[in-house]
Amino acid sequence: MALTGLQIFKLLPKTNCGECDVPTCMAFAMKLAAKNAELSACPYASEEAIKTIGAASKPPIRLVKIGSGDNEVQLGNEVALFRHEKTFVHPAAFAIAFSDTASLDESKALLAQIHDYCMLRVGEELKINLVLVDNQSDEVAPFVELAKTAASVSGKGVILRSNNVAALEAALVELKDQHPLIHAATPANADQLAALALKFDAPLVARAATLDELVALTTKLASLGVKDIVLDVPSDNVAATLQTNSIIRRAAVKDSFEPLGYPILNFLPGDDLQSLAADTSTLICKYASILVLEKCDLALLLPMMMLRLNIYTDPQKPIQVEPKIYPIGEPGDNAPLLVTTNFSLTYFLVSGEIENSGVPAYLLSVETEGMSVLTGWAAGKFTGEKVAAAVKASGIADITKCRKLIIPGYVSQISGEIDEGLPGWEVLVGPGEVIDLGPYLKKQVG
Ligand code: SF4
Repeated sequence: MALTGLQIFKLLPKTNCGECDVPTCMAFAMKLAAKNAELSACPYASEEAIKTIGAASKPPIRLVKIGSGDNEVQLGNEVALFRHEKTFVHPAAFAIAFSDTASLDESKALLAQIHDYCMLRVGEELKINLVLVDNQSDEVAPFVELAKTAASVSGKGVILRSNNVAALEAALVELKDQHPLIHAATPANADQLAALALKFDAPLVARAATLDELVALTTKLASLGVKDIVLDVPSDNVAATLQTNSIIRRAAVKDSFEPLGYPILNFLPGDDLQSLAADTSTLICKYASILVLEKCDLALLLPMMMLRLNIYTDPQKPIQVEPKIYPIGEPGDNAPLLVTTNFSLTYFLVSGEIENSGVPAYLLSVETEGMSVLTGWAAGKFTGEKVAAAVKASGIADITKCRKLIIPGYVSQISGEIDEGLPGWEVLVGPGEVIDLGPYLKKQVG
């Protein structure tokens, strides 16, 4: 039975020591109630708390980590079927597959591209997350060589895929501190692969032809002590994969069915871009945690990363930047001040246009709880009074001698209020459309 935050709080030590990475026991209780934390994070939980809270607060899909350091990828921990119910928290990871039968030099060049690839979008870094090393040769030496190269050149977490247990073990020895994902335990080799996963403290893929076989397999792996499991049910069409993924997610989230309470890995074979785009989009939405692609095609990956960014953004909470002064270019003593809201999309559009104009300036993002300019104004969060107060509080008057404040054209009506609140400043009404900001700024400076 689900417990409320208050019921959970009553069972916690109430010392607010913060060792669970949350400042107070109450905040931790709320996270447990939302199934966003595990009780094991509190070292001081009593036997009674463990018994009562333990199962009730456990996230229905286990958190599994691959890789280490900055490039660690976290999967699972989801608690909802639909993103309008609750935010999806750990975005699907993109993995690019490399075969140990291919030229090592060519693989190295592509791994270096994967290392360097990073697109910035509304303050988020869009990257490829994992590389899969495929032992198609079935030999030990080329597999180990490629595994070492993949880890060191790409800097990404690695998935080791082989049917050869000796090859897997040799590669795991080389990557022992890097927490690679082992692919894959099957009903035929479960004991051997479970032993490897435990020996190297590595997460393990459970691969079975049907859901019934998968349930039996994960139950067996769990009984052998393997905790970090990723699910893989191979299929030759995306409709079947979608159905399987949905059954797994529903069983885990709605029925708390532990044998299927793990992240899912899907392979996306083929190289037809249109089919891949359709299939990848489908599986990002429902419910892949890892998507393995055979080819690294940026024409496919970039839009897919944008879709992923949208799916894994809280629909009830607009993405925001910190409300503060941002220097754009190298603004000196006489650079003007522009003002906008702290809605990420608005901020990055405005800052991008200022940067492109080549006119150095300061940009103040005002706290509007992530609302855009017109919405913020309509909601009373981007009024002249609030803008004037934000300008004063920002300390900009000590940074630039220029007293020109440029406000968005769509809220020209607030200029009078700002005038009253900011004596000594000249309030200029900028263009309505951000696209016109560059020419406007050049004219102002000129
Ligand atoms: Fe409270 Fe336990 Fe967290 Fe400390 S570690 S703040 S006692 S819940």
